Amino acid sequence: MPELPEVEHLRRSIDPVIVGARLTNAIVQRRGVITLASGTPRTDAGYTMALLVGARVTATHRRGKQMAIEAHDGRVLVVQLGMTGSLTVERDQPPVGMDAKHRHVIWEMHPSGTSPATRWRFAFRDPRRFGGLTAYPSMTALRTAWSELGPDALDIAATALAAKLARTSRPIKAALLDQAVIAGVGNIYADESLFATGIHPLTPANRLAPDRLDPLAAAIRRILGAAVVAGGSTLRDYRDAFGQAGSATQIHQVYGRAGEPCNVCGVKLEGIRLQARATVFCPHCQHLSTSETRSTRARRTKGKSSSRSARK
Ligand SMILES: [Zn+2]
Repeated sequence: MPELPEVEHLRRSIDPVIVGARLTNAIVQRRGVITLASGTPRTDAGYTMALLVGARVTATHRRGKQMAIEAHDGRVLVVQLGMTGSLTVERDQPPVGMDAKHRHVIWEMHPSGTSPATRWRFAFRDPRRFGGLTAYPSMTALRTAWSELGPDALDIAATALAAKLARTSRPIKAALLDQAVIAGVGNIYADESLFATGIHPLTPANRLAPDRLDPLAAAIRRILGAAVVAGGSTLRDYRDAFGQAGSATQIHQVYGRAGEPCNVCGVKLEGIRLQARATVFCPHCQHLSTSETRSTRARRTKGKSSSRSARK
């Protein structure tokens, strides 16, 4: 599943091509992948409007795992990759490895700085259709929608993370996966960040020792940043806009390694299910700190005896 690094890598790879380009046409193979802004008629003209046809692209944006394409006239289109989505630039033919099926929307564009007759294409493709395109009438409307998401993981500050984690007693791993807590941390990078900071995935989020917040926020920024540069993790059929695979899987320390020895201490990595997601950690390197353990016990006791909690 594409996570923040794949989406940001895609954004960076497509940005130089589409910013400045004029979208001259859009061929819609499957309307079901497009969510129109409220009030937009479900007509050809409505879809043409939603897909930014006729506009010049002025910027791309990203929050968490969502990418947005902004047009000069204020229209915005959000791209969500879901499990298998991709955007590909096709100068002549589809890039190697990208089959022509499942291309739900194909845009024709005139890239800036090319001769007037030049037409390239870019395509949204999503075989399993968990992703999609969502139209917004303005950047203001987009910002309102994105305000539902937590702070972006790529530049998360420890103070912002602390404020969000303080509000939930869910296991820290589950809290990190919640896009309203922090936007863009998926299963892989949650496991990697917790391993890098020696935090047990089941630590109650609001019991995390204060001195662990700075290292955790720093680890999330560092690990995601490195994965963006590496081009994301090549899982299933992720490719960037030019059909290139990423190489970030090579830097995973725990993800997908349950039962294998820890790269730090050699102890066998443990795999558990948490909210139906595979979770891998080192039982030796990732332990609950004394205060976190005490807090957990206190909370368990509290459930049985109200007099104890009243005294607290
Ligand atoms: Zn270890």
